[in-house]
Amino acid sequence: MSQNYPEWIWQNGQIKHWREATVHVMAHALHYGSSVFEGIRSYETPDGAAIFRLTDHLKRLYLSAKIYDMDIGYSVDELAEACRAVVKKNGLKAAYLRPVSFRDLGGFGLSAECPISTAVAAWQMGPYLGPEALENGIDACVSSWQRFAPNTIPAGAKAGGNYLSGQLIAREARRLGFGEGIALASTGLLSEGAGENLFLVFDGALHTTPASASILTGITRHTLITLAREDGIEVIERDLPREYLYLADEILMCGTAAEVTPIRSVDGKKIGSGKAGPVTRRLQELFFGLFDGKTADRWGWLEPV
Ligand code: PMP
Repeated sequence: MSQNYPEWIWQNGQIKHWREATVHVMAHALHYGSSVFEGIRSYETPDGAAIFRLTDHLKRLYLSAKIYDMDIGYSVDELAEACRAVVKKNGLKAAYLRPVSFRDLGGFGLSAECPISTAVAAWQMGPYLGPEALENGIDACVSSWQRFAPNTIPAGAKAGGNYLSGQLIAREARRLGFGEGIALASTGLLSEGAGENLFLVFDGALHTTPASASILTGITRHTLITLAREDGIEVIERDLPREYLYLADEILMCGTAAEVTPIRSVDGKKIGSGKAGPVTRRLQELFFGLFDGKTADRWGWLEPV
């Protein structure tokens, strides 16, 4: 087992030992990818452990569920309480939380009205793209796999099946020796990383791909847009052609797991000086500052455990 699982998992209203928190092999979601989920981090802050933008993540879970006609059956408050309970019960502080709702056992047709099950797990997780990634950056490549078109699968839902695309992109990149893959949209324009949103810096301004580019509109993306604008950094949401990757002064990827990761090269071409540039460093400072108290949380993003 490569993952060091914590002992306790919340499943359908009960905290269970992880060995008991299982699903039947005939569950709909296992066969058809019919799950929606979230990835959320908690951080240790000077005021104790806090779950970062817990409510916003859970709201997105409900939006994903709405797209797929899934009735989660618990309120946001009940699931927020489940998230807190899992962190507490496992004695975690800085952790990664994974709420997941899915079509469970109860029918095998594609449109079967299966009962919806929900679980929340949490575990310790370091920097997702490797121990050095936040400091030194990573080497990325453009994937030979494109993201799904907007009229194929809705990228705005964080659904299990979407991550077949992410697996192809990430596995190809790793096989070729890169830290992460960046995908183009079906339009041929830039979309996002396998599991991260993308920001390019030109002349001190941040450029990021829009919702129409088959991206998941990340909560970290929204956080960085907010922090940057507050700090006087211009942010432009726009379509970006592939070659802009090679021309940017700086590039960074962001996501709950990846946090704020500099990109030092794309397809073997060095980005800027090949190190994290000043705008990336400033965003890292503002973002991680939320958790050590250096950036004032004026938005109520830190939700106490
Ligand atoms: N895009 C994809 C495809 C992702 O899986 C993620 C991670 N959830 C993101 C972007 C970043 O989203 P967030 O900042 O909300 O974690």
